[in-house]
Order: sequence, then C-alpha cells, then structure tokens
Amino acid sequence: MTGGTMVCPVILFYKYVPIADPDAFAAAQRLLCTELELKGRLLIATEGINGTLVGEERSVERYVAELRADSRFSDIEMKVSAGTPATFSKLVIKVRPEIVALKAGPEIVSDHDNHLSPAEWKKTIEEDPDIVLVDVRNSYESTAGKFENAVVCDIEQFRDLPDYLGRLEHLKEKKVLMYCTGGIRCEKASALFRNRGFKNVFQLHGGIMTYQEQFGNEHWLGECFVFDRRMTVRVDENLVHISRCAHTGVPSARFVNCLHDLCHRLVIVDEEAEAKNPDYRLCPECLASGLTSDTAVYKRPEPAV
Ligand SMILES: [Zn+2]
Repeated sequence: MTGGTMVCPVILFYKYVPIADPDAFAAAQRLLCTELELKGRLLIATEGINGTLVGEERSVERYVAELRADSRFSDIEMKVSAGTPATFSKLVIKVRPEIVALKAGPEIVSDHDNHLSPAEWKKTIEEDPDIVLVDVRNSYESTAGKFENAVVCDIEQFRDLPDYLGRLEHLKEKKVLMYCTGGIRCEKASALFRNRGFKNVFQLHGGIMTYQEQFGNEHWLGECFVFDRRMTVRVDENLVHISRCAHTGVPSARFVNCLHDLCHRLVIVDEEAEAKNPDYRLCPECLASGLTSDTAVYKRPEPAV
C-alpha cells in the first residue's frame, strides 16, 4: 500500500419498493454491514431503501450479492465510484418516514413511467430545441457542476422544492427534463411537477452518476457534488471548471461549512484565499452581516494543555 490511501469502491443505490417492516429490515442490514465492515449511510422506510456505502472491494461485492438475493432488490442498480476508507467515518442506518424527504404529502409517490436512459437523454438534448433542463438538486450542488443550460433551483434542501415550484410556473408547457445525482430525487420531483400541472416531464434514469459513467463530460460542466467526505467527484477528461470561490471568484471546488454554526451553509472557499483572510471561512451572507472569524459563534478547539 502506498501513501496510506487505498481506493475502495463507493456504491450509491436506491429503490422505491414496499418494505413491510422497516425496523426489522434495518436491523438485518446493520448486522450485514457491520460484519462486512462497511461504512456509510442507509435510510430505510416503508417506501424503500437509499444508501451510500464504502468498503473493501470484496466486502462491497458481497453486500451487493446479499442485497440482490432478496427478491425485492434483485434488480437494484448500483452506481460505483472511487473512494477511500475515509470517505465515511462511520456506519449510520436510520428508519425514516421517507428515503428522501420531500414532505409533499402521501399523494406524491415515485414516478417510473418517464425515465430517459442516458443515451436517450443525450439524444434528446442534442436534437430537441424545445426542451428545458431542470436541476432539482440543492443550489450548492449545482454551483459545483450542472448540465449546460440547466435551470437550477434556489433551494437549500429537497423539501424546499414544493414551495419553490411556483417560481417555475413559466415552464409548465415546456418539455421538462429533470435530473439529480443518482435518480432518487427525480422520481418524487417528477410526481410533484406533474401533480402541479406540468404536462411533459421526463427524468434522467440513474442520474448524473450513471450518465457520466457513459458520456463523461459531454454536455456536463464541472464536478458532481456527493454527500460524503469527498464532497465532489469528477471526470477529468475534458473537465470544464465552473465552480468559483464565493469570496474571490477564483476557480475552486473546495466546499466548507460556514464557520458560524447557526448558519453552517455549504460554500466554496478557495484554500489560499482563506489562508490570507480567515474571515473567508464565513459565507458571504454572514460576512456581509458583520460577523468575523472572531465574533462568529462556533465550537472552538480545546486549548492544548
Ligand atoms: Zn453563513
């Protein structure tokens, strides 16, 4: 082993499928993941499973085989990317009301009838001039990377989408092509859009991760935000950097949380810029409100004894 970092596969997966006893299923998953020394996050609900796990290659392979041996998950799709043992610090398995929280009411269930494969997606955006791409991820995610010409949503979290949708009314008659990281959010967002009167809605099957496995950076700009310590993943070939330091505008894809704990918003801050000005550890809004790195409220490290 060199450099102390071993490349471990990270798997990202979900499936909307009824799980009658989520607590019992979560307990069984906890046993399996612990035995295989996997780390990451699993959310389990009566509507299905949503997971990201990292581990040694053989353990990850065994996990996938065990999961697919369960007839409910025999066809579950896996998106695989490169990680390290440090991609996640621990294993967290939770039972939740939803596998991705939209909180739009029980009438919004996942849509399965309007998926476009990555190849269909690419063909459509190349050939149909009347489409509009809608990025249904959080705003900080789309600052790291997005499809060319995509409409981005100014939301901090997915459950802000139902309220935000009023601002997309002008797209109601358009052919809307929506995407997210792995597809899980689109299945609900699609149902929400249609429920609100959008007639012509399509979603990218398998999300950005599956698209980039096949088409790399074609029609894609920047990096793809991920919810683990890597913060972003990218395809290096023909990469177009679009993300910028929130303070200085220099190209950077380094995400940090705003120093002020009451804010904690994710922002992109260039490392050199922060080294020169410690106040840049605050987000622009907190900085503009007059806070400094001295007056921000955060847990300071214990003084060394
Ligand atoms: Zn802030």
